Amino acid sequence: MMLADFHVHSNFSDGKLTIPAVIDLYGQRGFGAIAITDHVGESRTVIGKAAGHLGLCLTPATFSLYLEILKSEAERAWDQYRMVVIPGVELSKNSISNHRSAHILALGVSEYLSADGDVAEIAQAIREHGAVSIAAHPVDSGKFEKQTYHLWNRRNELENAFDAWEVASGDRLFPEVLQSRLPKIASSDLHIARHMTSWKTILECERHPEAILDAIRKQEVQ
Ligand code: ZN
Ligand code: ZN
Ligand code: ZN
Repeated sequence: MMLADFHVHSNFSDGKLTIPAVIDLYGQRGFGAIAITDHVGESRTVIGKAAGHLGLCLTPATFSLYLEILKSEAERAWDQYRMVVIPGVELSKNSISNHRSAHILALGVSEYLSADGDVAEIAQAIREHGAVSIAAHPVDSGKFEKQTYHLWNRRNELENAFDAWEVASGDRLFPEVLQSRLPKIASSDLHIARHMTSWKTILECERHPEAILDAIRKQEVQ
């Protein structure tokens, strides 16, 4: 059995910790798997461009360094903690309207994925890339911040577009998602160390990236 967290930020976007600090935070607590999922913003919107300039999002220019550090830190995490580290991104569509905003996680990425275009096309592109697609915090997060309702508004149409929908984010459980038949996952959306106090996912599978991604696809998760 392993404890897992598939939604974690580093200082490559708006998280406070470096990637090595994130690895040690989870490794020292005995986690079996984590995904680091820094934000990628839209390239054509004012909010997306501003976030890129402020260093709050990965850009095509910083992405190769991000992947390189994730690769070497994944090796260290395995050697030191027997913890699997999956490279991911959070494709972030931020609009002034909560109903047009959507965050989509891609787990198991090996090249830059764009946050531009319609969410259905983005979800399809993630799967064609061989990665797992997750609808992040699709309902009211209870936090004093912009909300992302676009995916939930279109949940009937997008039901099969995602491998999982976040049923919890941080310390908040989402009853609407819990009561739905949608495939589920629970994650921290950790930005600072204190966010460790959160819902997590438990898996029983081999400690290997592909086995872990498959367990999410097959919903062999708790
Ligand atoms: Zn963030
Ligand atoms: Zn988000
Ligand atoms: Zn996030």
